[in-house]
Formats: sequence, C-alpha cells, structure tokens
Amino acid sequence: MKISENISLKTYHTFGTDVKAAYFAEYTNIDELVELLGSDLFQQQPSFHIGSGSNLLFTGDFNGLILHSAIHFIRVVSETDQKIQLEAGSGVNWDDFVEYCVQNNYFGAENLSLIPGEVGASAVQNIGAYGAEVKDIITEVHVIEIESGKPFVFSNQECRYGYRESIFKKEAKGKYIVTSVVVELSKIPVYQLGYQHLEAEVIKNGEISLKNIRETIIAIRTGKLPDPKVIGNAGSFFMNPVIPTTKFRELLATYPGMPHFTISETEEKVPAGWLIEQCGWKGKTVGNAGVHDKQALVLVNKGNATGNEIVQLANEIQKSVQEKFNILLVPEVIYVSSK
Ligand SMILES: Cc1cc2nc3c(=O)[nH]c(=O)nc-3n(C[C@H](O)[C@H](O)[C@H](O)COP(=O)(O)OP(=O)(O)OC[C@H]3O[C@@H](n4cnc5c(N)ncnc54)[C@H](O)[C@@H]3O)c2cc1C
Repeated sequence: MKISENISLKTYHTFGTDVKAAYFAEYTNIDELVELLGSDLFQQQPSFHIGSGSNLLFTGDFNGLILHSAIHFIRVVSETDQKIQLEAGSGVNWDDFVEYCVQNNYFGAENLSLIPGEVGASAVQNIGAYGAEVKDIITEVHVIEIESGKPFVFSNQECRYGYRESIFKKEAKGKYIVTSVVVELSKIPVYQLGYQHLEAEVIKNGEISLKNIRETIIAIRTGKLPDPKVIGNAGSFFMNPVIPTTKFRELLATYPGMPHFTISETEEKVPAGWLIEQCGWKGKTVGNAGVHDKQALVLVNKGNATGNEIVQLANEIQKSVQEKFNILLVPEVIYVSSK
C-alpha cells in the first residue's frame, strides 16, 4: 500500500485548488483496505475517501488522512443469451468501464459516457445523464464497513437511490467504503434515446448503434462542459431544484419561458442553470472564481482560486436565486474539510 505524507491534492480533484493532505493512502485490494482501517494512522485522525475528486470542493488543507481505491478489475459474474452481469472494482475509471461495455456490445451504460469519476463513487452519487441513471443498471454494491472492517453487499433496493442520492450520502454516510459494483446489462439492443433531442443528434451522426450513441454524447458533452484538465470545475455545482407545482405555476405566470420537467402531479423540476443565468451570473468572474460562460451551472477555478473563494461565489449565487425566485439552490458538489 502506498502512503504519502504532506502531499499536494491539486491533481487529485478537478477543481484543482492548491490544498494539501497530511496523509494520503492508496490501497489496491480489500485486505490492504481492512488493514488500513485498523491502523493507528486511520484511527487517530479525520479521514475522507476520494474517488477522482470530480465532485468535491476542498475548503482548505486536509489535516488528516485521504483514502483512495486502486482496486482495478472488471469481471463477468454471470451471463445468459440476453443479459450479462459485470463486477467492476471501485477504482476503475467510470468512462473506461462504459467504453468496455460499448466495445463488447452490452447495452445500458452508454448514456453515461464521459461522466468523470470512478466506479465506486458512481454508486454513491447515482450519476446520471441523458435520461439514464446508474441505478438503472446497478444490482449490487459491495462495501467494507468502516467500524468493523467486515464486507457487506447492498442490493439495488437497499441503496435507496434517488436523484443524485443514495443511502451512502444519507443514513449510511461515512460508514462504508465501496469496493466494487455489480451491474446488469442487456446483450439484446435496448436504446434509451428519449432525452430531449438525443435521438435526432444520434441519427445526424449515422445509424443508431452503441458506438454512435457514445460518440454523440461525448461530442455534446465536450462542446458544452469545460474540460477540468484545462479549467478547474466539478461539473454541475448545484442540484436542479424540485418545487411544488403550485409554486411553479406562480413563477410561470411571471416567467413564461421558464423551462421545467414534470416529476409528478405535485412537483416540477426547474434547471438550476436557467435560474442562475436569469440572475445575470453566466460568464461572470469574481476574484479567481467564476461562472462558466457556456453553462451557468458550472463554477470554475480561473487559475488560483481558493476553496473559500469558490464557496463565497456559490453563496452569492444562492442568495440572488433565493431573492429573485424564492428557491434555495442546494450544492451537488461536496464540501470537504478536516475541521
Ligand atoms: C466536467 C464534469 C462533468 C460532470 N458531469 C456529470 C454528469 O453528467 N452526471 C453526474 O451525475 N455527475 C457529473 N459530474 C460529477 C461527478 O462526475 C460525479 O459525481 C462522480 O460520480 C464523482 O466521482 P469521483 O470518483 O470523482 O468521486 P469524488 O468526487 O472523489 O467523490 C464523490 C463522493 O463519493 C465518495 N466516494 C468516492 N469513492 C468512494 C468509495 N470507493 N467508497 C465510498 N465512497 C466513495 C466520496 O467520499 C464523495 O462523497 C461531473 C463532474 C465534472 C467535473
């Protein structure tokens, strides 16, 4: 196991703020993880498990231990003529996994192409895009309980998935470390092209196929979202708020162009990016932090921003959206501190 001291985290999270961790430990298998959890190093200080840091904002140096999984494997669990179950280690890069599925003609993961991060975090976050969520393909999440060092398996239902939500972000927060995830994919073509203009975009590029869907989604994403390797960001900073239909109707009377998505008879989802744009934030820079000029939902590190500068900008945005629309935006990005 690799344990480093006083290490810069700049390249370990996509906001790229210049913060340090007192200790950084990377394990390559479950035995190493269990040994680490029982060690004084783990027991005697605050700790935080990262994936590839694409949904995190460090608000300062982390005076404790950062853990990272380097469990890298993909294996077939079971297979019929129609379906296949694959297990992937928590440290596998998510998009490498999607590419593997597409190359092998397994249907179900392709809409989640190019989402940054690792397999372990995908199951914590319930990542989603283009009308699909990872919960639609997950059958099991394999974990180690931090307190006991014992392995457990959560079924899809036990994970209590919701929009960017899971039990691992709520009741079970900080209690388990994901070591692998099992997904079930179809070997028979099943496409999910109902999201907005996705089908038309795919057809523009040629015949409907797994490869074409993946390439189309990659092209759309690359055109819209800033590349964290070029400009620090963590994707959508806030979640899209879900508001009661009665409140939505009142707002619609004032803002007839307000985009929305019906969740149920009593709830509507409104794009947070639109709300932020209406408050005049799109493309604005405040100190070293800013709001992306193509997508107002993405906050960016303009170079040397500190975590606190980004937090302050997020607070200002929250305040103006609250004042104009009476809607509280909730960050999707996770704030990390050792305090
Ligand atoms: C440019 C960009 C675009 C994005 N687009 C999307 C999108 O379309 N859809 C979407 O859903 N998200 C999107 N995101 C957000 C991000 O990709 C996801 O949240 C992703 O799942 C984070 O993975 P990660 O490995 O980087 O996890 P991190 O950000 O490092 O961690 C996220 C959470 O998972 C926990 N965690 C990580 N690994 C483990 C583990 N092994 N066991 C237990 N807990 C763990 C962490 O403690 C933390 O709470 C985007 C981000 C960026 C930068």
